[in-house]
Amino acid sequence: MSKLPEAVAQRRTFAIISHPDAGKTTVTEKLLLFGGAIQVAGTVKGRKADAHATSDWMQMEQERGISVTSSVMQFPYKGSTINLLDTPGHADFSEDTYRVLTAVDSALMVIDAAKGVEERTIKLMDVCRLRDTPIMTFVNKLDREGRDPMELLDEVEDVLRIRCAPVTWPIGMGKGFRGVYHLYNESIHLFSPTHGGRIQEGEVIQGLDNPRLDELFGGEAEALREEIDLIRGASNDFDKAAFLRGELTPVFFGSAINNFGIREFLDDFVSYAPEPQPREARERTVTPDEDKLTGFVFKIQANMDPNHRDRVAFMRVCSGRFQAGMKLRHVRIGKDIKVPSAITFMAGEREQAQDALPGDIIGLHNHGTIQIGDTFTQGEALKFTGIPNFAPELFRRVVLKDPMRMKALQKGVEQLCEEGASQLFRPLNTNELIVGAVGVLQFDVVAHRLKAEYGVDAVFEPVNVNTARWVRCEDPKMLEEFRRKAADNLAEDVAGNLTYLAPTRVNLDLTRERWPDIAFDATREH
Ligand code: GDP
Repeated sequence: MSKLPEAVAQRRTFAIISHPDAGKTTVTEKLLLFGGAIQVAGTVKGRKADAHATSDWMQMEQERGISVTSSVMQFPYKGSTINLLDTPGHADFSEDTYRVLTAVDSALMVIDAAKGVEERTIKLMDVCRLRDTPIMTFVNKLDREGRDPMELLDEVEDVLRIRCAPVTWPIGMGKGFRGVYHLYNESIHLFSPTHGGRIQEGEVIQGLDNPRLDELFGGEAEALREEIDLIRGASNDFDKAAFLRGELTPVFFGSAINNFGIREFLDDFVSYAPEPQPREARERTVTPDEDKLTGFVFKIQANMDPNHRDRVAFMRVCSGRFQAGMKLRHVRIGKDIKVPSAITFMAGEREQAQDALPGDIIGLHNHGTIQIGDTFTQGEALKFTGIPNFAPELFRRVVLKDPMRMKALQKGVEQLCEEGASQLFRPLNTNELIVGAVGVLQFDVVAHRLKAEYGVDAVFEPVNVNTARWVRCEDPKMLEEFRRKAADNLAEDVAGNLTYLAPTRVNLDLTRERWPDIAFDATREH
């Protein structure tokens, strides 16, 4: 049994991973519906990505009135408190997603029954595997003709290299979809399509031998009994320890749009999914039962809500208890700051946080001093690890249309780059602003947001940079010499770290050979 205080042990902090269109938004909405956080489905706006043109996507990003709530959603369910963290859908935001996944204790993988394992799912699974994050699986859209369920499980096992343990099993599919059988409760939940809308309880039949089954299914009842026998023999049993090690995933079937299969998932989610887990810091492991507050920042967002023009740093509480008005040590800059208020994300409304416990996420108001990866404590010098920055692969120079707006431009670019999806570099020898990103959509987004949020007209022009590396050297003299000799290719990133901007890969290799004692890092730990 857990030694954690009850309220902490009941925390469940997770994210949904899926390929676009598999149903992440719909599942999210239905989880909120069953969690009582919303009364009617259709009130959560998805942040659509790949399915839309860039311009549509940006328009939607702009209408992010509720995006505070869609970044982190807290809701109660049967005595547990669930924190669901949103991950951006678009591939160009994969680093963002990566960092969100460092702040969760488990993940839900949503798979489209007709499409099976898709490309983004594979990538996201790889990210989860880095920390052995426990994964639950929801196979969605059973109301449509899809692939054979056994074949789907085989595909998950082969492609994603994780064992599957079905917990519910679908009865029929598409037009013939009749419901799901829960292999452990031995209950059959009958399907009735209820598009959108409110929760409707379908009939539940207890036990496979229940005569009610024969009454409803006729001859099919016997076939179902045989099938379930077969499934039990051919599949893995649910093994909680293996699940918590990230080696086995419990699988649920349903149809999110019909509110179906979601309750079965949630009921088991709160009992299977891990409580807040210990976190590695450079100095030691921090456990959630410690009295003193610790936490790390995994995401920053500027101007999230047009009605509150502010920048919010999202912090995962790792230990202790956050209380409004308390003093926190901002470890990187070595200062104590009083936090009069923070944002919580309860029940879909942005609220002032009175307190928060391990597993919870709070939003700190950021006035430019907080960076992704920052650790907050009650005085201890501690640095949480495992929240990396990746060297961008595309670079552009920001060019201002109206030179009078230089100050606004600098402020805008700095604030947007704090979010981490794009990165700002200032060359040592020129006044240029160079933005690096992993995907080309980022440049459009930054230009669009500069205009919308900072009133700055700017364009991005090609620049002769092919790749960037963060520079490190044990010997300060050597570093100084390198700084002088290679100044034309050196820049500072938004946090002031020295970065080598290489015009070509060959140039990078040559520079490396010439300076064997200097480390050129493709990732940087925040
Ligand atoms: P996301 O891109 O992963 O967030 O996916 P959405 O939740 O937006 O769903 C993508 C599409 O699939 C939408 O048109 C949904 O209405 C539809 N959809 C979601 N769940 C189901 C389901 O259970 N059955 C069917 N037939 N369609 C679904």
